[in-house]
Amino acid sequence: MSPILYIVIPCYNEEEVLPLTSGMFLEELELLTGSGRISADSRILFVDDGSRDRTWQIISGLARKDHRFTGIRQSRNRGHQNAVLAGLMEAKDRADITISIDCDGQDDIHAMEAMVDAWYDGCEIVYGVRSRREKDSFFKRTTARSYYRLLKSMGVEVVYDHADYRLVSSRVLQEFEGFREVNLFLRGMFPLVGFRSTSVPYERQERLAGRSHYSLSRMLGLAFDGITSLSIAPIRLITGIGLTVSMISFIGIIWAIVVFILGRTVPGWASMTCIFCFIGGIQLISLGVLGEYIGKIYMETKARPRYIISDRTGQERERNGRRDRSEDALPPPVPELKKRPENHG
Ligand code: UDP
Ligand code: MG
Repeated sequence: MSPILYIVIPCYNEEEVLPLTSGMFLEELELLTGSGRISADSRILFVDDGSRDRTWQIISGLARKDHRFTGIRQSRNRGHQNAVLAGLMEAKDRADITISIDCDGQDDIHAMEAMVDAWYDGCEIVYGVRSRREKDSFFKRTTARSYYRLLKSMGVEVVYDHADYRLVSSRVLQEFEGFREVNLFLRGMFPLVGFRSTSVPYERQERLAGRSHYSLSRMLGLAFDGITSLSIAPIRLITGIGLTVSMISFIGIIWAIVVFILGRTVPGWASMTCIFCFIGGIQLISLGVLGEYIGKIYMETKARPRYIISDRTGQERERNGRRDRSEDALPPPVPELKKRPENHG
């Protein structure tokens, strides 16, 4: 019997792009079903990550029109990683395999066929890997690549040029449920689950509409999370720097004593100030890195829920006897002016 596939798609303020890509996802699902690769019970599962625009209304509308579209809504915006996790956990017991993919059309939807085929070949995780990133800006490309190298050098197992486009079997998800951390960096966590895995290359495209939600500061935040959630190499590095600086200062002390005995002391306040500043700087950076880890421990000990689902499609009309007003929450979109009224004034 063919497996049930759930395509998990996080969406945050994507009213512009969803009407374009939802049809593409459905076409791909039909293609996969038609070829007999997946079961007709397969679904497209949108995760609305607490959008402020009409994203949820669009998702609900799609679900009403076609039963293969379903959706869940997070009670507030919690970020891409948490949205993907919410979707995967929702799909875990309903599907045999899941594929997570962004909703903006940047990841090549047709790579799903190769991913499912790899699952048939016995792989439990299939990573979508960007074979070319010409469509990404030069800055994003180079920083991303250097970051992967940095992670590797710190002993974090990441798949080069893989983001969050991946096939994961429900078997892996059952085990993944045991990874209880609150600071999520999914692309670094799945390799830790183990099982047989492989990669499928695809070409990264430009966004079909709307704009990226990853500002520089959010990207840096995710990058920092990736390092500090999966590696303690920076703390070791601090110890290493501390030892080196102490050794140098020890040699300096011996040198100062020798110079003093030889009676050749030189006024050297400038060099001393530089050294003080340098060591002071290193100490502050070290404290910052340590603080980052302590902050992580603090968040992990709280063990707050990583996602909270407030709505599901198909349930939005009637809840506890109350009519759901989320449909009315936003005013209807302003109709586009076909022609500017001419100024006769
Ligand atoms: N996204 C999300 N929550 C957020 C930010 C983004 O669910 O807080 C979704 C977004 O709708 C998209 C995916 O995550 O489907 C990737 O985001 P985006 O395309 O903005 O990132 P980029 O591709 O530029 O790195
Ligand atoms: Mg994108």
